[in-house]
Amino acid sequence: MLNIVIFGPPGCGKGTQSAMLTEKYNLVHLSTGDVIRKEIKSGSDFGNQLKSIVEKGELVPYELIIKILETSLAKHNDASGFIFDGFPRTIAQAKDLDDILAKDNQSVSMVISLCIHDSKVIERLLNRAKIEGRKDDTEEVIKNRLKIYKEQTCPLIDFYKEQGKYVEIEGDCSIDDIFGQISKIIDNHTITA
Ligand code: AMP
Repeated sequence: MLNIVIFGPPGCGKGTQSAMLTEKYNLVHLSTGDVIRKEIKSGSDFGNQLKSIVEKGELVPYELIIKILETSLAKHNDASGFIFDGFPRTIAQAKDLDDILAKDNQSVSMVISLCIHDSKVIERLLNRAKIEGRKDDTEEVIKNRLKIYKEQTCPLIDFYKEQGKYVEIEGDCSIDDIFGQISKIIDNHTITA
């Protein structure tokens, strides 16, 4: 099984690349952000609970996000692999992901990180706000999301480097360029695995 974590700050292109990779490698795209937005849209009690957290750009509490992950994984028992997009976002979540995958004798195969400058993140997300109208794409919330990314998510870089699973790619290139680079990394991994 191929279990890829696609990593990087908000707006780095994780969602776009995940969608393309899902198709090419027949993987399941598991975006915790997408699951959360769907739940909020449904108007359920759980969705309402998540709404105010997401709109402030805060992280959804640990117990809730693990519940979301486990429920999503359980829907794809027959998957030949996953692209985890937006998960894990903390060391605790990464350890949990390892434990959950280990129950099926699986592990994270690689972490592909898309690097992009803060000013570019802000520019891209403000643009996305005009198109998609996401409530968490305002300048104030974007800055909070970036702060949280640096404080809570960036420690994962060393966590995965120590495991020899971390690969970095310049994220400020064309979509096709990035896709080509990621595909090469996956193909090499599959050959040597
Ligand atoms: P995203 O679409 O990945 O940028 O996620 C949008 C929002 O959903 C985030 O700003 C968080 O509020 C919440 N979220 C998504 N994934 C996680 C996660 N792994 N842990 C905590 N909160 C999350």
